[in-house]
Amino acid sequence: MGKILVTGGLGFIGSNLINLLLKRNYKVLNIDKVTYASNFYNVKNFDKHKNYKFIKCDLNNQKKLGIILSKYKPDGIFNLAAETHVDRSIDGPKNFMYSNIIGTFNILEILRKHKIKAKLIHISTDEVYGDVIKGRSKENGVYRPSSPYAASKASSDHLVSSYVRTYKIPAIVTNCSNNFGPRQHPEKLIPKLIYNILNNKKLPIYGKGKNSREWIFVEDHCEALIKIFKKGKLGEFYNIGSNYNLNNLAVVKKLLSLAKKKIILGRNVKIKFVKDRPGHDMRYAIDSRKIKKDLKWSPKINFNNGLKKTFDWYYNNQKYYLKLNRKDILRRLGTNK
Ligand code: NAD
Repeated sequence: MGKILVTGGLGFIGSNLINLLLKRNYKVLNIDKVTYASNFYNVKNFDKHKNYKFIKCDLNNQKKLGIILSKYKPDGIFNLAAETHVDRSIDGPKNFMYSNIIGTFNILEILRKHKIKAKLIHISTDEVYGDVIKGRSKENGVYRPSSPYAASKASSDHLVSSYVRTYKIPAIVTNCSNNFGPRQHPEKLIPKLIYNILNNKKLPIYGKGKNSREWIFVEDHCEALIKIFKKGKLGEFYNIGSNYNLNNLAVVKKLLSLAKKKIILGRNVKIKFVKDRPGHDMRYAIDSRKIKKDLKWSPKINFNNGLKKTFDWYYNNQKYYLKLNRKDILRRLGTNK
């Protein structure tokens, strides 16, 4: 059905996407720099699949990337490779500029110079719109990124859009809301809380826990990406969301009630409010009527069912954590920084 190149396929969304692409009979080449955020445990279900191949490659290595792309000649590229943790972008933004901006620039330059006709789906985030106190951001809304992470994603979106206009590169940008589900790195909110619940640790929450995010189950996001690849209009931006917002405190409470049904909670499992992240946006919310109307996509998994699947996955895959750099994780899990 087609040859696909996925960048960042050892990470959370990339590995879920590859899983789905293989089920749909696509041939997939995964390239990934293998940063701390990647995990070979994420691809263990399909790493022997006849249609799957992995090559270690940093998007900043333009020469190697050029050779891979020219040789493989993909029909489609899903660009997910990125530095993604907002806290890390505040501690040290440089890597974010290299991987997220220059990395995307390198892909675009290779497509332009080598005249590769692959359709590029560039995966971005709702964080580019910044704080949305009321209403929901539309695709033509103003970009007001607050963190270095969001700013680097915003820059890469603009680059893609400029290459569509100037060089007729066949590309589409997608802006998705907060994903949750299996295989996410445990420094992110939901896996972090589950890890701490399972390990009798406090549950660190920023500020007063009122920050609200629009939550989408990762498989719904991946289905939307495949639909956009197949039916999306070149040069367009598509928001992908669930229209369902919850604040962090409500997320913890839902997780605690799920956990209570399964395990006896340790005595240290208590919410601990910690000093807020600088520049922390209060609310993200997107309007995804465009993809629903034009491409007939809608999310299938509601938050409660998705959260149960997620909790069960981490519960059943506790060795997942052991495949990660424990020292680094524990440092972050303790302080939420
Ligand atoms: P992740 O951190 O779990 O995975 C990112 C992967 O990219 C890792 O495997 C990492 O090794 C790889 N990578 C990083 N820099 C690289 C480089 N220079 N070259 C090659 N590989 C590199 O991230 P994720 O949560 O799966 O997010 C994937 C994409 O989706 C990102 O572009 C992110 O901005 C976007 N996104 C994420 C969310 C979310 O809620 N997680 C929401 C909307 C959009």
